[in-house]
Amino acid sequence: MRKKFIAGNWKMNTRSIDGELLASAIVKGLGSDTRVDVAVCPPFPFLSRIGQVVRGTPVGLGAQNCYLKDDGAFTGEVSPAMLVDVGCQWVIVGHSERRQFFGESDKLINQKVHAALKAKLRVILCIGETLDERNGNRMKPVLNTQLAGSLADISSEQLKSMVVAYEPVWAIGTGVNATPQQAQEAHVFVRERVGQLCGESAAQSLVIQYGGSVKPDNAAVLLSQPDVDGALVGGASLKADDFLAIVRAGIQ
Ligand code: PEP
Repeated sequence: MRKKFIAGNWKMNTRSIDGELLASAIVKGLGSDTRVDVAVCPPFPFLSRIGQVVRGTPVGLGAQNCYLKDDGAFTGEVSPAMLVDVGCQWVIVGHSERRQFFGESDKLINQKVHAALKAKLRVILCIGETLDERNGNRMKPVLNTQLAGSLADISSEQLKSMVVAYEPVWAIGTGVNATPQQAQEAHVFVRERVGQLCGESAAQSLVIQYGGSVKPDNAAVLLSQPDVDGALVGGASLKADDFLAIVRAGIQ
């Protein structure tokens, strides 16, 4: 049985004080409940501070991106080792906003995945098709290409430290979520393909999150789909009550 995992992607939002208040409210609201895995992914500058807030609680800490080298002359980049150093257990890799606005390719994403895993970070790998791709009946080929590229040379053992987030680009930040049936169909496809790439049994244990306009009022029905094992939440992760309501919807 896969344990549900709800992660909050704060994106480029908050300032240190409201990030701290948000994290504190999540910690308080969750208490010692571990029925669902939970993590928050604040912006880089606040990781250390939020790390202090969540330390010793069931709330994990993740970054939203990383580079593929440990150290060196890579101005503006942050290494997996640095993220570990400030208390991260998780890193999001391949978010569609990184692909779209920063030109990240599957090859680069694959290098980042390898670097993060080598540093002992757990990876949330994001994939998803655009509206044009879905309307052009290309959802499966697109997911296939993204998975094959970004999971190149990932073993079944390494997959145990990974989560895949299926995030249809047309649903991110738009208020239009995938229907539960659309999410379930995509997740089944992702699990099948990951099975072919990394091994069937590792794929059966893989947590596949859905991301794209998850809110308190649609979370329960999405999370009740058999292959929807959690959610990567953007906008609604910025309000503690909404995020906690989504976490609670994962307790079924
Ligand atoms: C995301 O940023 O990963 C996301 C799913 O955003 P939203 O929940 O706002 O659609």
